[in-house]
Parts: sequence; C-alpha cells; structure tokens
Amino acid sequence: MSEKQTSIEYLKGVGPERARLLKEELKITTIDDLLHFFPNRYIDRSQFHLINELPKNNSEVQIKGKITQIEILQQKRGKRMVAHFEDTSGKMDLVWFRGYKWIRENLKLNQSYIIFGRLNWFKGYVSMPHPEMELEVNFNKSIKKLFYPIYPSTEKLIRSGISQRVIQKLVLNLIEMGGNFFSETLPKYVLDYYKLIDKNVALKEIHFPTSQKKLSQAQIRLKFEELTYIQLQLIQKNQQRKRKIKGFLFSEIGSTLKNFYNHQLPYQLTSAQKRVIREIREDMGSGRQMNRLLQGDVGSGKTIVALFAILIAIENNFQACFVAPTEILAQQHFNSLQELLSDSNIKLNLLTGSTKAKERKIINLGLENGTLPILIGTHAVFEENVRFKNLGLAIIDEQHRFGVAQRAKLWSKNTTPPHILVMTATPIPRTLAMSLYGDLDISLIDEMPPGRKPVNTMHKYDNNRLKVFQFIKEKIKEGQQIYVVYPLIEESEKLDFKDLMDGYESLSRSFPIPKYQISIVHGKMKADDKAYEMKRFAEGKTQIMVATTVIEVGVNIPNASVMIIESAERFGLSQLHQLRGRVGRGNEQSFCILMTGSKLSDESKIRVQTMVKTNNGFEISEVDLKLRGPGNILGTQQSGILRLKIADIVKDNKLLKMARELAKKILKNDPKLENSDNQIIKKNLSNLQYESNIWNLIS
Ligand code: ADP
Ligand code: MG
Repeated sequence: MSEKQTSIEYLKGVGPERARLLKEELKITTIDDLLHFFPNRYIDRSQFHLINELPKNNSEVQIKGKITQIEILQQKRGKRMVAHFEDTSGKMDLVWFRGYKWIRENLKLNQSYIIFGRLNWFKGYVSMPHPEMELEVNFNKSIKKLFYPIYPSTEKLIRSGISQRVIQKLVLNLIEMGGNFFSETLPKYVLDYYKLIDKNVALKEIHFPTSQKKLSQAQIRLKFEELTYIQLQLIQKNQQRKRKIKGFLFSEIGSTLKNFYNHQLPYQLTSAQKRVIREIREDMGSGRQMNRLLQGDVGSGKTIVALFAILIAIENNFQACFVAPTEILAQQHFNSLQELLSDSNIKLNLLTGSTKAKERKIINLGLENGTLPILIGTHAVFEENVRFKNLGLAIIDEQHRFGVAQRAKLWSKNTTPPHILVMTATPIPRTLAMSLYGDLDISLIDEMPPGRKPVNTMHKYDNNRLKVFQFIKEKIKEGQQIYVVYPLIEESEKLDFKDLMDGYESLSRSFPIPKYQISIVHGKMKADDKAYEMKRFAEGKTQIMVATTVIEVGVNIPNASVMIIESAERFGLSQLHQLRGRVGRGNEQSFCILMTGSKLSDESKIRVQTMVKTNNGFEISEVDLKLRGPGNILGTQQSGILRLKIADIVKDNKLLKMARELAKKILKNDPKLENSDNQIIKKNLSNLQYESNIWNLIS
C-alpha cells in the first residue's frame, strides 16, 4: 500500500470517529482522497470587512477585531455564550450555542483576532454564530495564504465539529508535510505541450492559492488531468469491448435487401441515412456484437434505418425485434413497417399488452419455430414466454423509457447476445455524449429529409386564447389538423386530468359538432379506445386531437401542422422539442404555439425563448444541459460523470475536447501503453475504476 492510500484515521487531528464521519459524509478515506478533495470556492483572505459596513445579508465574511467581554446567557431553550467583538468601526456579537467551554478557556481578551463566518441578521442586529477564529499573530505566521479555501461540507459534519477550519488544517498539515504524495500523474511531454504546471504545485495551489493566476493554472492542470484519465478509460473500455464480445456475423447482403432498395424504397435516402446504414452494416458484419446508439432529431427518418438493419438480419436468417415504449408507438411502427414491406412477402407481427391470448399463441409459435422473422412490440416482448428461435437484432426505440431490467431479460434469451441498436430522438448533448458514451458507438443522423420547412414557433399568453382559436379555425379551413397537448404529471395527476377535460370541453364549445370533430387521447383510456381515436385522427376524420403527452413520442401524422402546447411552462425542453416534432412532417408550413400563464420563472422564460429561437435539437439539448445540469438529463446520477472531482463537463467543455483528443492520440500511438513516456499513465490508469455504462443510463 502506498502512502497515498494511508487511511486518514492516522492523520494528526482525525482519529476513528472523525475518519468515520469524513468517510460517510464526504467519501474521504485516504490521504489521496483528502488531497483530491477540492475547495469549491475561496474567500479572499487579504480582505477584511468593517463591522459598520457589513453586507445586509447572511453572507460569509472575514473581520479583524478583538473580543472585549464574554458572557454566558441563560435562555429558555438553553445556554449560549456571547462574545462582544469590536473593530475600529463598530461592535457585534459572536455567539456559541454549544461546545463553548473549551472556547471560553482559550479565547484571549483584547487581542487581535481574524474571525470568519456567516452573518446572521435579526431585527436589524447582526451577529455571527460559531465563527472560525485565529489570532492575528498566528494568521500571519501560517503559510502565505491569499485565499481561504471553502470545502463542500454537510450539516452533519458541521454539527460534529468538523468545521472548515478543521478540514483546512488537515489539508494544510498534509501539504506542509510534503512527502511523496504528489508524484506526477501526467507524462512530461504532455505537461510541456499543454504548458501545464506540475502536480505538486497544482495540489498546493488548489488548496491554498498564492495568487489568482496560480489558482487558475492549478485548476486547469487538475481538470485536464481528470478529464484525460476519464477519456483514456472510456476509449480503452471501448476497445476491450470490441475485442471481447462476439456477435453474430451477418455477412450476407443479398436479394432481399437489394430488392427493397431498388424497388420498394419510397424515397431517396438522405446521405446521413446512408452513412448510418453503412455504419450499422459494418458493425453487424464484423463478427462482434453491435452496441450502437442511433441519434437523430425528431423526424430525421430513423424508422427506415431501423428497417434496413432488420432486413440485414433477415437476409442472414435471423429474427429481429423492434421495441417501442408505448402501445401507440408500437402500433405506429408496425403500420409504417407493414406499409414499407407491403410489396415483399416478409412477415411481421405486433405484440403489445393488449394482444389477445389467441393471437399471442400464434405469435409465440412463429417466433419459436422461426417462421415469424420480425416482431414489433412494447415491453410485452420482454415477457418470459416470448422465445425467439434465433434473435439476431434488437432495436429499442426512445431509449430513455426503458429500464435496465428489461434489457437484461432480452439478453438472457440468447447465449450470444443479439446486435443492439438503441434509437433516440432526445439528442444527447455532444459534450455529454462524448464523456458518457465513449464505450458505445454512436451514429448520428444530422440531416433532415429534403423539403422540410422549419416549424414556426410562437409564444402566446393564456389571455390570447381567442386569437389562437381563430388561428386554428383558419388552419382547419385550409384542411390542416391540430394537436392540443396538455401536461400530465404524476404528482398532480388529478388536477392535470381536470385541466385536460376542461380544455376539451372548452374546445368542444368553440369547435362544435358537426362542423368540427375532436379526438381525445389520454392515459386513463383503454388501449383499444386510444388506438381508435388515433386512427380517426390519422385518417383525417377528426380535425383536432386533444391529448396528454402520450403523443409525445414518435407519432407520425403528416397532415397535422399545428401543435398547441398548453401550460408550456410546465414542460421540460426536451419534451417541448419532442412534441413540436409531431408537426412539420408534411409539405405545409407548420406552427407550434406555446401557451403559458402570464407569470413565468426565469427558467421557463429561457425554455420558451429557446423553443421560439431554434428548431435544432442539439442546440436545445445544450441549453437543457446548462439549465438542469448533467445529472437530470437521462438520469446520469448512476454514471461516473457526477463524481468528477473538479472538472465540469458543461463549463469545461473546451478542456474536455482537448482531453479527448489527447487520449485518442495516446492510445492510437501506443495502444498498450508500452512507451517509457507513458508508464506514468499506465500506472495511474490501473489504479482507477471509472464506471461508465450506457445501460446505467437507460431508466
Ligand atoms: P423519426 O426519426 O422521428 O423516427 P421517422 O422515421 O418517423 O422519423 O420519419 C419521419 C418522416 O420522414 C416519415 O414520414 C418518413 O416517411 C419520412 N422520411 C424518412 N426518410 C426520408 C427521406 N430520406 N426522404 C423523404 N422522407 C423521408
Ligand atoms: Mg421515430
């Protein structure tokens, strides 16, 4: 065990109890952990506030002054100790509610102290509870510290007496001890090329910066190191995965595929679609298992890509399944594929929760004896009694709706895992994708089918509803169809449902039968009824579709050209973008109208403005990432990304790109890390266990 791995328990001032707390609260167990436990901000120690000029809020301040008197006051709720503290400008109270015996014995009256803590304003009087204090003479003696590091902490630590001061002292002791804790972690050629300061200096400066410039050099150095090692691990993992997991070899590209391509394809593929199909084909023809994420904005034409993958599987005498998150969507995929395959004699079936027992039996039989090559469905496909003869490809649409457990079921159906293609229309920001999915192959459809007109998005306040209705009437007159979508959020389900019904009634009054027909679809309806209503709308028998977010994903009705989103302020950005993607699929100019109340939070405003400004899913997801942070996007808490110690994948985007480039280059030139220059990397990599797994994200 190297010294770095020594438990902090053995450090001066720690001991078993504090060690336990530090481990539980901050996950700090070793000296190395402590050295890499970085401050999240700094207080400028050269600045002192004057008591009569203190900010009128509960901020943290540093003051220089002396204690003139100490008294213990008896209160209803217990005792407290109050010290009268003054500087050249005024007076204030320092207050202790506990642990003051020791403090009282040690405090020196009428000597200059530097105190630091959070102000507490009450009825115009200011005090400072439990300040951190140091005699000015000692303060001046300690390392020349320009900044006072403030570390992340927890309520429990503070209550247990592990204050900022305590942590600061621990780190300071370590740094003053020196030793070989800080051996370099990046090769010299990297430090030279990127002009990075060495590890030793960086660690000292990050905890106790001697200047603003040194601090930022330290930050850059440590962030770059962290990001580089993450990227190195991701790339290595990816290479290992490619080497290890065997997959079915689909070498045959024969008549079925060519026939479809030459005679049944209803349109020219975009060059992005062609490129992505080629990538998939190469994967499936490599003998290794495909694990590919297909990203493409709403309407970019992922379905046809899926069909090509399916055809390749069939050509090689394997079965394929295509799984969607909702019945409506599965039905829709089924319809699209059925139509695309109508001139072929390839059989396909639909399996959902509402498939009747009799039909289920037939489907199961076909799957087991291999006469049914394609199964489209919902999670019903994952059920125990559904057994494929030779499943070669699983396509999962809209990945964020599926749980890990379901995928595991799919896998266990086969000894050799099927090729997996996960399709998502929720573009994952490039930044996030780069750091999360280094171990997954990504295909991107970055081009829309020709002739698409960008959706014209507008923001209207609720009190403009009549004008909006007028607009709807005009559009219906032109033969267009309209979606009106209401939020339905679990926590407020009842109220939301009422809103939906009220909205439906109000629309029914303004758009009366028989001139107008309105469909309604919501989660409380039976699957059959939903499908019936969807069908009426799809066939143009109704002009307005009132719905909750069930139509969010995938629905394709080109004649619908207006999307009204009610209470748009309550939707997240990616949801809004998905919803808007339901229109703009035909030849008409489409519109999306975001209805909101008059009072919007700052965040809602940004969301609405972003939607009005851009149709680009990637731009939108970048804004989303900035608003919500990576943890809330796709539930990335499970992945390593939030355990980053210092870098921030959003803010440090540029560094991330540089780190990725470097990592790629290193492993390309020296895949096994054999060069003497890279021994440092090899050694450090073997000590790291960065967890990244796309399947953790699928939930
Ligand atoms: P998504 O990526 O959102 O799943 P779809 O696969 O549903 O998109 O395709 C959206 C629409 O675009 C469909 O109506 C489809 O027929 C059409 N489409 C797809 N690819 C092309 C293309 N290359 N040229 C013209 N239309 C296309
Ligand atoms: Mg789709």
